[in-house]
Amino acid sequence: MNLRIGTGGDFPEAVLDGLDAACTLTWREKADHLLFHILDAPPHGRIYHTSKNDKWPDGCPCEKVASDVLDKMKKKNITYHVLRCSNHLNMMITEFKKYIDVKALTFDDKITFENIITRQVCQRLIDTEMTLKKT
Ligand SMILES: [Zn+2]
Repeated sequence: MNLRIGTGGDFPEAVLDGLDAACTLTWREKADHLLFHILDAPPHGRIYHTSKNDKWPDGCPCEKVASDVLDKMKKKNITYHVLRCSNHLNMMITEFKKYIDVKALTFDDKITFENIITRQVCQRLIDTEMTLKKT
């Protein structure tokens, strides 16, 4: 198979398609479901950004909508973390928060992805341990 790398042409990305695909993964039932989403661009659709450079200003051409995709994530008990690689995600985060809890994480040169992810996973383990001790 030959793959060609391109820029995609416009600024937004198929964010909802990616999240929808994540819902189709096999998630173990009795495990914590943590999703770390590293991204720099919002989904297609003018409700997620103010850029004029969007081929699909009315939203994803496959007609996926946040309410459906995020509802699937909620039903799968997926804890959603956004690791921001740009300042273009605020509208998306605000919109997504209407449907699910979004843990928006920022990082800089001193705090790396792995530090952020490790910290979140450790905190989840501590929370789970505390919950188990109470029961
Ligand atoms: Zn799509």
